[in-house]
Amino acid sequence: MTDFLSELAARSLRREPLTREDALRVLDGEDELIDVVAAAARVRRHFFGRRVKLNTIINMKSGLCPEDCGYCSQRLGSVSEILKYSWIDPDQAAEHAASAVAAGAKRVCLVASGRGPGDRDIRRVEHTIEKIKDDSPDVEICVCLGLLGDGQADRLREAGAHAYSHNLNTSEAHYREICSTHTFADRVDTLRRAAHAGLSPCSGAIFGMGETSDDVVDLAFALRELDPDSVPVNFLIPFQGTPLGGRWELTPERCLRILALFRFVFPDVEVRLAGGREIHLRGQQALALHLANSMFLGDYLTSEGQPGADDRQLIADAGFVIEGTGERTLPDARHDLVALRRRGAGTDLPANA
Ligand code: SF4
Repeated sequence: MTDFLSELAARSLRREPLTREDALRVLDGEDELIDVVAAAARVRRHFFGRRVKLNTIINMKSGLCPEDCGYCSQRLGSVSEILKYSWIDPDQAAEHAASAVAAGAKRVCLVASGRGPGDRDIRRVEHTIEKIKDDSPDVEICVCLGLLGDGQADRLREAGAHAYSHNLNTSEAHYREICSTHTFADRVDTLRRAAHAGLSPCSGAIFGMGETSDDVVDLAFALRELDPDSVPVNFLIPFQGTPLGGRWELTPERCLRILALFRFVFPDVEVRLAGGREIHLRGQQALALHLANSMFLGDYLTSEGQPGADDRQLIADAGFVIEGTGERTLPDARHDLVALRRRGAGTDLPANA
């Protein structure tokens, strides 16, 4: 391993930020891939041991979206032959959640297509959360309903949601290439609303959409500014019938270097292997587990993932273990970073100036 990678791992273990130059070298430098993976894997093992957190997606409402995100099979004008349906019943969602929990999922992600929820949608989701919690009281519920309006994040939090997910997807500079109906800033605003309401912020990316390495770094650094607790890393699933349907630009090496970069940028944050891992990482999925500490189990929104039994085998074969419900995902040390103020105004001690 080169001095650069050893030093990078050491700095990441101390939670020191990467420079742009460091980040670009991880993506495009001449360091051997296996050395890059080994360096980032040190960081993953330090903060998360051998644990893999499993998450599952329930697509509550599929297709028929008025937005035009170019990667999405549910977008306006998509002719992908996906399932299209309106809201599923809360009982049906609770059944899916219970079987995913029995299969090892610690988090259930309730997702619905659309620009953002209306009042009736929020009521449906509140009811669904209640049903899921009746059967599986310990499961983490993450909600992903698009752009949030005033007061909606508070309602979801009060209903028992743990997290809100809204990906930034790509860099601000590249955003207009993939979507014209909302902006990067709209997405940032929703993430801030969710965090302000006390929901755990989840926000990630999709790679393989024509972005440059500078875009990858810009996005990683923009996400870092938002201080998410979880960061899903998707690789484009190029659905036929969407504008990006013909785009197959990723290699397993590119995916692994991106995951390594995200581990260095988010040393103690949940980095999740998400959509597209099977088709882009292919035989290298086990190596990816040395970088990500979390993954989706089962199917995605509109495409099928590999069988759950294969995922559990993959985890065991690579020497990892599924994280239990009672285990904390984020390392304790991260919480120690918050030091309650005991000096300055309101105390007898001098301020920290
Ligand atoms: S990503 Fe979401 S907002 Fe964009 S088209 Fe798909 S469902 Fe609609």
